[in-house]
Amino acid sequence: MHPEYPRDPLPPLPRIPLLRWLRLYVDAWLDVLFPPRCAGCGAIGTLLCDTCRARFRPITAPYCWRCGQPLPEGTLCGPCARGRFVHLDMARAAAVYVPPLRSIVHTFKYRGNTRLAEPLAQYMARRVRREALDVDFIVPVPLHRDRQRQRGYNQAELLARGLGAAFDIPVETSVLARVRATPPQVTLGLRERMENVKGAFRCVEPARVAGKRVLLVDDVMTTGSTLEACAAALKEAGTAQVWGYTLARPPLS
Ligand SMILES: [Zn+2]
Ligand SMILES: [Zn+2]
Repeated sequence: MHPEYPRDPLPPLPRIPLLRWLRLYVDAWLDVLFPPRCAGCGAIGTLLCDTCRARFRPITAPYCWRCGQPLPEGTLCGPCARGRFVHLDMARAAAVYVPPLRSIVHTFKYRGNTRLAEPLAQYMARRVRREALDVDFIVPVPLHRDRQRQRGYNQAELLARGLGAAFDIPVETSVLARVRATPPQVTLGLRERMENVKGAFRCVEPARVAGKRVLLVDDVMTTGSTLEACAAALKEAGTAQVWGYTLARPPLS
């Protein structure tokens, strides 16, 4: 070969920028063909309209200092006073799980509308002070592998990523695993829920969490049994502090 000829006369194609450009192009057309609709009321042009957002019922003090349950005065709620949490140090939720938020969460979780993660995570970010989040990283409550494969995404992870981006806090998705698929908890009471998820989670990278302060993120907290089971796995691995923060919680639990 002549020495002046380069070995690779053609530079490699800029594959990633081209794909990104194509993606933007396709997304722009999809928005024209299928304009976004508000998940609460169906209004065209937005994923979550201002009217529906204004109908969210934010959870404000006074509340149970441990679990965030609204109370007439800020002390401990009944279940917390009876010691429902051993490992979970504190939990808060952004809003009450009532319409229209309830149907919006449903659309986000079960109907594949993953784009709702952005406005919902922004709402979560606005409801908490950054200074109050004294944590090293965020861990989304994991789904069981089979369920995640079936759904295609973990809604808690999408919220965690949005919150992490808003506050510049790293998100760790590989430290905690759901090792046991659990039946739906909808019809279960507090004690049964605790039993149902006990041992369902395992910390798979103890060295990463030892001595750290972790914020667990999930979409909905009902009795807190899932967060407590996650906290148990993390504390067993040496985590120093575990807080939970969810988008919503039902009015009474
Ligand atoms: Zn709306
Ligand atoms: Zn409480």
